Parts: sequence; C-alpha cells; structure tokens
Amino acid sequence: MLRVAVIGSGPSGVYTAQSLIEQQTVPDIEVYVLDRLPCPYGLVRYGVAPDHEKIKSLQNNLRTVLEHPGVHFLGNVQVGAPGLGLQQLLEIFDAVVFCVGAATDRHLGIPGEDLPGSHPATDFVAWYSAHPDAATNRFGLTARSAIVIGVGNVAVDVTRMLSRGAAELAATDMPQDALGALADSQVEDVWMIGRRGPSQAKFTTKELRELGSLPGTEVLVRPDELALDPAYRDPGGLPAVGRRNVEVLRGWAERPTGATTPVGRRRRIHLRFFLRPMEVLGDAAGVRAVRFERTAPDGRGGVTGTGEFEEIEGQLVLRSVGYRGTPQPGLPFDEATGTVPHRAGRVLQDGAPLPGVYVAGWIKRGPTGVIGTNRPCAKETAQSLLEDAATLTERRTTEDPVAALTRAGQSPVAWPGWLAIEAAEAEWGRGLGRGPVKLPDWAGLLEAARTADVTC
Ligand code: NAP
Repeated sequence: MLRVAVIGSGPSGVYTAQSLIEQQTVPDIEVYVLDRLPCPYGLVRYGVAPDHEKIKSLQNNLRTVLEHPGVHFLGNVQVGAPGLGLQQLLEIFDAVVFCVGAATDRHLGIPGEDLPGSHPATDFVAWYSAHPDAATNRFGLTARSAIVIGVGNVAVDVTRMLSRGAAELAATDMPQDALGALADSQVEDVWMIGRRGPSQAKFTTKELRELGSLPGTEVLVRPDELALDPAYRDPGGLPAVGRRNVEVLRGWAERPTGATTPVGRRRRIHLRFFLRPMEVLGDAAGVRAVRFERTAPDGRGGVTGTGEFEEIEGQLVLRSVGYRGTPQPGLPFDEATGTVPHRAGRVLQDGAPLPGVYVAGWIKRGPTGVIGTNRPCAKETAQSLLEDAATLTERRTTEDPVAALTRAGQSPVAWPGWLAIEAAEAEWGRGLGRGPVKLPDWAGLLEAARTADVTC
C-alpha cells in the first residue's frame, strides 16, 4: 500500500488528494491530508471574502473528497519547526506532497511601511475571516480615509469589505467582533491605487464590477488618469480580461456629471492609477498619509517616475501587493520567486529529484490564478507521484499514522473533530441570531474539537 501525506487542506491539497484516489494505476493508496489548523479548506475558509458565498460553497466539493474512505483529514498537525521535520514525515509516509500555499505577504520596501495603522492586506483578510492566528479586535475602524495599495483581487476584496455595511454582512459567517467593527466603522473614503495603468490591473472584471453595485457607495475614477494608458484609448490588443476591465472603468469615467453622488451615498471608492508608493507618512501615533510619485507608461508595459508627487491622506493603509511563499522544512527554496524548485511537481535538490517529496499549488507555481487553476496543477503532481510509486514504498514504518504523529508530539484533530467545530459554530451563531459564525481563536476551536465522540 502507498501511504501519502498531503500537507495543507486548501484547494491544491484537496485536489491533489482527489487526483490520487480517482485513478486506477495504484489502487491501494491511502491519503492523509494534514493541516496546521484544526479546520480544513485553507484559503477557501480563511481567504475567500465572506460575502462571496458562491465561491465559499466550493467547500462542499472539497468536503466530498475529505470524506472519501481513502482520505483522512488530520488537523492541528504542525509541519516545520517546532513540529515535524521532513525526515520524520518520510518515516511515517511513503511520499509527502507540500500544498502549503504562500503563507506570507510581499513587502513594499518603503519608509514608514510598518508604522501603526499600516498593515498587510492579508492581516485584514485573516481578521475578517476569523483566522485563529489573527488577533481579535485587531482593526478598530476609526480611520476616515483608508488607502489600499495594489490593484489585484485581494485589493478589491478588502476595498469592498471596507465599503460594505455590517447589515449586509450579518448573514455571513464573519466573526462577531469584525462585524461589530464594521458596524461602527468611520471609513468614508477608500482609495485603491495602482502603480501602473488600468489596462494592467490584476483584478478580474466580475470583482471590479461588483464595486459599482455596493449600496450607499459610489465609485470615482479620473478620466484624465485613465486616458494616460495607451491601451485604454485603444484596447483592441489587450487580453479579454483587460478589455472588459477597461470597459467597466470607461463606463464609470464617462457617467454624465450629476449621475454620481446620489443623496444617501455615505462612502466613496476612489480608483487611482499611475501612482507609485514612495513613503507611508506618520509617526508612532499612526499613519496620516501616503506619498506617491506619479508615473507614466514606458511603452514596454512598465512605468517610469515623472518626478511629480502626490500625498493622499489616510489613517489606515492596507498593503495588497501579493502573497509570498515561505521556506519548508528540508526543502530547497527559490528566494527570488518564493517557490520550491520542481519538475512536474517533483521537488528538485541541486537539479535532481528529492525522493518521495512533491509540491502543488502556490508553493509550486507562485501566488497566481483562481481556485480552479489548482486542479491541473495538482493533477500534474499526482501523476508524477504515481509514476514514481514503485520506487516509493518500503522505507517507512507500518505504525498507524495517527499513532506515529501522536508519538511525535502532535495532537491530531480528525474529521469528527472538525464536524464538532462546525456544530459549535452553528450553535454559537444561533445564540447570536445569525447563521453559523466562525470561532476566531485556537482555544475555542480546540475545545469544540475535543467534544467529538471520536477524535481519530
Ligand atoms: P496580485 O493579483 O498579484 O496583485 C498584486 C498587485 O500589487 C498588483 O496590482 C501589483 O501591481 C501590485 N504591486 C506589487 N508590487 C507593488 C509595489 N511595490 N508597489 C505598488 N504596487 C505593487 O495579488 P493578489 O491581489 O494578492 O492576489 C493573489 C491571487 O489570488 C491572484 O491570482 C488573485 O486573482 C487571487 N484572488 C482571487 C480572488 C477572486 O477570484 N475573487 C480573490 C482574492 C485573490 P503590478 O501589476 O504593477 O506588479
């Protein structure tokens, strides 16, 4: 029998497990999906915004895989210091597939970046998603103006969440303290700012368009800024998504005067382009503005500085400039890309495959693409592993993996433990007059998991 550990239970991990069990080449296979958290689904649970119910419902598909008899979910298992090392894993499993995503954020590298009030957007996402590593009460939204740096889909998510009213979000599974903070939010202006032009923005059109449909919020774009982009004037050569984005922005820019600011609109989203962040301004008491340099297209897809500067006032700054992968225990790591070197999913050490070790998802290809992009990526890795199957067996112990992990100092939370967490979240939500509400801290999650009749 081939016994495989998949590290990470987000989409790439679950699609890898699915590819491994839905094949005929190696029929005798058991897949253990390990996660650091006691809860499965990775960024689908802790990254997809709570108001994107349709994408969230993908959890139902992932669940079917994790409930397959050949797949075993084990949460609360720490891989990497101070937990399990690669050799320990290879003593328990024939093969290990790292599907750990990109755990941290990229940095801007500008002065003032770490002033109080300036945060990675991923921290804000973790907070409103009730990630147990995010401190509760982290974001009191007392700022009147918030600045979001970057124009990718995460930037759109946080801009939308800052602009939505709490009443619209009460039906979601958002944690109670985040909902309360949004209800008391003083934010009136949200600035979402790209260093390049509108045709080069990374957001997708559906997400962009949604900003225009938020109740009580108007979207402002500057026709003169859009017109700086040659592809905005002539979008014919753009990829489809760029063309559609440009059309949405054009619709907003060319609204007749007076068509905006209807009475009752409390919030404004300002979409700005060709502004490169230079410095976050403020002091120990907090940020007060961001200083940008105006840029101009360089004709090769990049921009050059113009030597003109603009300060935008804001008391909250969310830096949304992409995720970044982190080194994994015992694995080589490419610092430049934040990924693990591989060939078709086989981890490469000094150019040669590291026996029994594989990668899939963002740690393999970098933090790009939508959830579905993980399917073919995971399939490729699973295929490589299955091709290697004959060389993988016979090294590991025959001890039951749960016993071996426990002996190695871990306290795995198995599927019944997760079901108990789900039940506790439903019950907590009922008490608050809401649907299921996420438990936001480790203690609450582990206590709920412990109420399961069977833990392994
Ligand atoms: P992203 O798509 O890579 O966007 C990063 C943004 O940051 C870009 O606008 C980039 O501009 C900008 N940026 C990078 N370095 C910068 C700097 N030094 N100064 C100023 N701006 C800088 O990353 P993301 O938004 O974190 O999204 C990650 C992935 O998750 C994407 O594939 C995304 O589609 C996906 N996602 C999808 C959804 C959804 O489908 N609803 C939701 C969230 C995330 P340049 O282009 O100029 O580098």
